[in-house]
Amino acid sequence: MKSGVRPLVLIGAGHAHVVVLRSWLRTGFRPPEGSMLITPDRYGWYSGMMPGLIAGRYRLDQCRIDMIELCERCGIDLIQDRVRGLDADNQQITLESGRHEQGRWLSLNVGSAPPSPDINAASIEVLPAKPFPILVEAWRRWRAEGAPPSVAVLGGGAAAFELAMALQASLPGTSVRLISGSELLHGHHPRVQRKARGLLREYRIDLTENRHVTRVQGKALYEDDTSLGVTDASVVATGAGAYAWPCKSGLACEEGFISIDATLRSISHRNLFASGDCAALPATPHAGVYAVRQGEILADNLRAALLRGSMKLYHPQPRALALLATGDGRALLSYGPLTAHNRLLGRWKDHLDTRFIEG
Ligand SMILES: Cc1cc2nc3c(=O)[nH]c(=O)nc-3n(C[C@H](O)[C@H](O)[C@H](O)COP(=O)(O)OP(=O)(O)OC[C@H]3O[C@@H](n4cnc5c(N)ncnc54)[C@H](O)[C@@H]3O)c2cc1C
Repeated sequence: MKSGVRPLVLIGAGHAHVVVLRSWLRTGFRPPEGSMLITPDRYGWYSGMMPGLIAGRYRLDQCRIDMIELCERCGIDLIQDRVRGLDADNQQITLESGRHEQGRWLSLNVGSAPPSPDINAASIEVLPAKPFPILVEAWRRWRAEGAPPSVAVLGGGAAAFELAMALQASLPGTSVRLISGSELLHGHHPRVQRKARGLLREYRIDLTENRHVTRVQGKALYEDDTSLGVTDASVVATGAGAYAWPCKSGLACEEGFISIDATLRSISHRNLFASGDCAALPATPHAGVYAVRQGEILADNLRAALLRGSMKLYHPQPRALALLATGDGRALLSYGPLTAHNRLLGRWKDHLDTRFIEG
């Protein structure tokens, strides 16, 4: 390693980086000595299983990957810390501990956090759905010490729907409400939306659509000045919002996300890769399934970068099949106009998710 400059710095233990490390293990590729991964959490959490965990259907250790062990097997240093700043021109990063690192190649896979309403003197817990450890910790406390009488889940996408169903399943004394800023499951076929609304009714989850909670004051939820009622706790699952620091770094960004091309490299800084939720690429939604697919190409392209080989191109799949967990062992299928909801689909989802965790 040239003094001080790491050959490769991976930032974030997201889905894509997990796939990269596993691919290198499988193919026997060893990254150059001094390569490192920076992650604040020792675990890589698998998003597909989070609703199942919250529903009480999985144990913690079934839903996460031990990055210390994975890095050790790959011969990569793991630094448990959080990046708080990046100087893209000099490929230098600053960590929360104050430490600095510089990489010949950088790869960002830091995910996203849901956009939050303004919280003015909230007397309730307002929990982001991501990063996962925060929500998981609160949920475990609720189970151990008593849950709030009511919880409002904010958001109307697949994650918000699944979390509302999961909380209802695992917190029997709590009344769960779902407040969606758009119509429920916007972008899914109306048949899927109808089925999802029916399931919420069946499980007595109150649904409010086309209302965007902009403010939490005390226990009260507001859309601007219009009251949307009160709640004892709130879980924010409003989709992917970009972290601020990557775009303050000099990288070209689009709506806060790092603009990349099909090689998964920044369009402005060619020694920097970005993948998963933190990246912006046309026709590529911010979802775990896309991050996983990008991981396969990223593994090859990082290796090509380190060995001066040629890069592969990532082509997003035109349409992804979605299996939404409904907290009861069943799953709701959404694939264009096709929909179904049953236990067999639940078992299929369990199988796919477990297969990912087991590598
Ligand atoms: C409840 C829920 C369920 C979901 N279910 C699904 C699903 O079934 N299918 C699907 O396709 N999508 C699902 N999603 C969306 C999915 O979570 C994201 O699209 C996916 O996690 C993105 O993966 P990623 O690889 O970009 O990063 P992530 O998996 O989000 O990981 C980011 C990593 O970066 C680390 N990190 C963050 N900031 C820093 C920093 N400053 N420095 C260093 N490291 C940092 C984090 O600790 C984490 O390890 C779900 C989302 C939620 C909230």
